[in-house]
Amino acid sequence: MIMARRLTLEGAQVKAVAEVLPYPSGLVRNVVQCLHDFNIPLLLSHTVAEVHGDRRVEAVTLVRVDERWNPVQGTEQRIECDTLLLSVGLIPENELSKAAGVAMDSRTGGACVSDFFETTLPGVFSCGNVLHVNDVVDNVSSEGETAAHGAYLRLKGRMPDRTSMVPIEPDETIGQVVPHHVSAQNDATLHIRVKRPMKKMTLRVGDGFEKKLPFARPSEMIWVTVPKEVFRSAGGPVVVRCEGR
Ligand SMILES: Cc1cc2nc3c(=O)[nH]c(=O)nc-3n(C[C@H](O)[C@H](O)[C@H](O)COP(=O)(O)OP(=O)(O)OC[C@H]3O[C@@H](n4cnc5c(N)ncnc54)[C@H](O)[C@@H]3O)c2cc1C
Repeated sequence: MIMARRLTLEGAQVKAVAEVLPYPSGLVRNVVQCLHDFNIPLLLSHTVAEVHGDRRVEAVTLVRVDERWNPVQGTEQRIECDTLLLSVGLIPENELSKAAGVAMDSRTGGACVSDFFETTLPGVFSCGNVLHVNDVVDNVSSEGETAAHGAYLRLKGRMPDRTSMVPIEPDETIGQVVPHHVSAQNDATLHIRVKRPMKKMTLRVGDGFEKKLPFARPSEMIWVTVPKEVFRSAGGPVVVRCEGR
């Protein structure tokens, strides 16, 4: 969506943005400011069926998909164009982390970290988009500050022992959660993405914390600060879950 706006500002005519999901996978802010404000159509549940042209792109055929992403016959539409821009999602680049041998989270594509953003390798920290894809850079800056404080504690020999930390586990309603274990020395901020869009959502962390939200979308990371008592009284892993319509 951002690139659709950028191309428009640079003089291109953007005919459409196609999204295979039945809801926008990016921020609502970007739907409004990048597409609506520039009259660029957003075709949900659509994908590219065919690219036409030999020496260069001459047209693209879009097709609607069902809930299993199978093309719906008869919904093909040919769009004359000279460029097709593919946006295939951001994936944290973690060759260094993997080579260093830190534990990885298959949901985020990044390292497993504590609430100080320390990986399972003492003295190695991970934050920002290499840890998990963030919505805005302000979140990245905030994570960087916490990681810097963690590095200070590690250098001073005051980092809590990892074996005493409380594991945080998402259930099947949660797309991802960071951090993966918390020291329970301080209140901890959890960064959560739900798996599907929800209305009137209740988020629960362990047995002692809940937060109600009017809606939640996978594209918008939820930041929630949970009191340390919730982790201290858990006596085992703390499960993060949510329910809603
Ligand atoms: C198209 C687009 C538009 C966006 N628009 C906005 C916006 O309007 N507002 C907003 O708040 N956020 C926006 N974001 C999100 C924001 O850019 C990111 O959240 C933020 O840049 C992440 O910061 P970072 O430092 O974690 O990673 P990055 O900014 O990606 O920085 C990582 C740096 O590490 C370097 N690097 C990688 N590997 C190595 C290596 N092996 N050795 C040395 N260096 C290495 C990379 O070259 C890069 O410079 C946008 C993101 C995208 C993709």
